Amino acid sequence: MQVSPLSFLEQRFEAQRQAFAAESNPPAQVRIDRLNRLLALTENHESDFVRAIDTDFSGRAAHETRLAELFIVRAGIRHAREHLKHWMSPRRIATGLHFRPGYNRLLRQPLGVVGIVSPWNYAIQLSMGPALAALAAGNRVLLKPSELTPHFSELLDRLVRASFAPDELSVVNGGVDVGQAFVRLPFDHLFFTGSTQVGRQVAQAAAANLTPVTLELGGKSPAILDASCDIPAAVASVAYGKFLNAGQTCIAPDYLLVPTGLADIVADRLKAAVTRLYPALISNPDYTAIISTRHRERLNAMVQEARDGGARIIEINPAAERFDERTRKFPPTLVIGAAANARLMREEVFGPLLPIVEYDGLDQAIAMVNQGDRPLALYWFGRSVANRDRVLRETISGGVTVNDCLWHLVQEEQPFGGVGPSGTGAYHGEWGFRTFSKEKPVFYQARLNGARLFYPPYGRTFELMLRLLKRMT
Ligand code: NAD
Repeated sequence: MQVSPLSFLEQRFEAQRQAFAAESNPPAQVRIDRLNRLLALTENHESDFVRAIDTDFSGRAAHETRLAELFIVRAGIRHAREHLKHWMSPRRIATGLHFRPGYNRLLRQPLGVVGIVSPWNYAIQLSMGPALAALAAGNRVLLKPSELTPHFSELLDRLVRASFAPDELSVVNGGVDVGQAFVRLPFDHLFFTGSTQVGRQVAQAAAANLTPVTLELGGKSPAILDASCDIPAAVASVAYGKFLNAGQTCIAPDYLLVPTGLADIVADRLKAAVTRLYPALISNPDYTAIISTRHRERLNAMVQEARDGGARIIEINPAAERFDERTRKFPPTLVIGAAANARLMREEVFGPLLPIVEYDGLDQAIAMVNQGDRPLALYWFGRSVANRDRVLRETISGGVTVNDCLWHLVQEEQPFGGVGPSGTGAYHGEWGFRTFSKEKPVFYQARLNGARLFYPPYGRTFELMLRLLKRMT
């Protein structure tokens, strides 16, 4: 008998709940074994993953899948495995003199059944990354990948079934209807990566169950070239950070701020830098395609609207290839002079289009960043320490890389996450472990202690004790 996706989902959820109740705090060996199985799954099937993602994109650079997805997941698993025992151990917390010889500890324990909803753009990294953190923290995990990467999602489901019991880690595939049912389940934690718009709906669904959420969302991440910057070096970094995965990267520079008078010079340099990276586009397997025709049309519409509004469009097409309906690739495109109300300047671009905007002095650059939603990432290029520190102090973003793009994401010892409309909460390394753990404060009272001296009936002893306490604190 065929089981409908929704009842399958509920059955899996219930099975995981029961499994968690039976083993609510798995020891380190059990967690390490799960991490090892996840690692083996990525190591033994690298070419299968590369092929599946390539098929889903109709052309995704294999090197990008290997570096920006598989390598990052494996590094995350190895890091978690190495530090797990330390992360699991109770933290020693200072205890006020007046509470001694009682003492404090902070215990870290698994939350229970965790739901993970992931997007298509880095389908492997953004599903397995949170999953590894949730497993390391001792949880059971249900994972819903994007319907836009069906080959990957099917592969992951098959490999996970072969390596994990369904009540340990399970993949649930389906479209938006399954996603909506998924986020309505009373998870102990829900981890969502995707658009700000869907993130809002997910937060509302989770609120009905008071399920805590981590939201890893998007936004318009600026790259600022300071007047003090080394333009060729900055432009080379921006070209890489922007056109990796054809701009379909949550932390890709969304728009470029340059000092007044420099837009044309920077555009010329960018054109040369992109040509060096991608001497050809359609015929070049290093240059990734757009995930769907619908997404490509959205980019086309953005460019058309900017052009109609009087912006200058610089299409970079080094081998003069023909971009027609038969390709899902989209040429790297620079836009100078787009109107502030153009879609390109209001919505997250999420593709290989880069608006270049001139600013008049640092105050204006900071004001431009601050008038929009708080971005997921910010990039600043320059040598002036004073200007750098002003930008760091006076803007708020999920994270920053100074004098390069993207690299803050792969710092295992740092949290990764957005702020406000670009996200809530964080993960990576120990931050991920903590996201999926309850950090429970415990006070161990000593056998001999003065607490009873505060009990009623209140009188002189109480007053004496309170006076003493005031002096000690
Ligand atoms: P999306 O929000 O459309 O979809 C993400 C996931 O949510 C998919 O699995 C989808 O099936 C599911 N979904 C869709 N509608 C749903 C609903 N109503 N209820 C529950 N689930 C639903 O995002 P996308 O297009 O897959 O990804 C692109 C977006 O993700 C961009 O905005 C990008 O910036 C963002 N992103 C953020 C990060 C980050 O780490 N902060 C990483 C990658 C992508």
